[in-house]
Amino acid sequence: MRKPDTELLAANAILYVKKSYVRSNFIAMPTFLFEHIIFGPVKSRRLGVSLGINLLPSDKKWCSFNCIYCECGWTSGGAYLPEGFPARELVRKELEIRLMLMKQNEERLDTITFAGNGEPTIHPSFGEIISDTVALRDRLAPGADIAVLSNGTMLDDPSVFRALEKVDLNILKIDSANPETVRVLNQPHEDFSLERMIGNISRFKGRFVLQTLFVSGTFKGNNIDNTTTEELGAWLQVVERLKPQMVMVYTIARDTPSTGLQKIPAERLRHIARKVRKLGIPVQVSA
Ligand code: SF4
Repeated sequence: MRKPDTELLAANAILYVKKSYVRSNFIAMPTFLFEHIIFGPVKSRRLGVSLGINLLPSDKKWCSFNCIYCECGWTSGGAYLPEGFPARELVRKELEIRLMLMKQNEERLDTITFAGNGEPTIHPSFGEIISDTVALRDRLAPGADIAVLSNGTMLDDPSVFRALEKVDLNILKIDSANPETVRVLNQPHEDFSLERMIGNISRFKGRFVLQTLFVSGTFKGNNIDNTTTEELGAWLQVVERLKPQMVMVYTIARDTPSTGLQKIPAERLRHIARKVRKLGIPVQVSA
């Protein structure tokens, strides 16, 4: 997922982010990892003043996808459950301290955002952590929303789905409606089914934000372009079926672990946005 703090990430880089070089079978590229459980707050166009929570290990990225454009680099190994997750109680304590400080200093807070070094919902205590966060938010920052950036792959797990139903803003990723494109672009686990995931997302009944990254280029000899007429036609059908409360379209903005990828020009993104608006769905473009 795209980080929630693109506008101010550079300014906060020294405090909250370390630059790492991820070795892979392909090539070593500079990528970003969050060092702390709580990071920010930072100012985001879509989330306002956002306090980030990273539920993944601080020294590597873990995700159920291995997107070839991921700003965190390549997913480490093939298993879903790595070691090194921060304990539930530690997350609760760190968030409580930060929220108390912000309250004491009368700092503004619009959103508490789960993002970080991979897919937050793979944390084994994700449901409990969301419950803790809701309780802390209600007590210490009642005006703030809770947002989760997720790739939606864990929605088969009833505890993950129930947890996401409790948050104010689910930002879920679908980069293509074509399973073959998803296989190349997102490199999911072999058990992954795009149709099943779309079915799971439909259970939110439109109470979510759809996030799509558009990109072109080549990877391992495959041409990639999820902005072709066929790709967009199929993707728009999924958008129409799911009726999200908003669509966010964007393209690569920083280093990617795979070389050979190109940004999609702003005009092309705006063209895509116009097609979404014709469906009556608000859309935000980050070029
Ligand atoms: S879903 Fe993709 S972009 Fe998001 S963290 Fe996982 S690999 Fe990175």
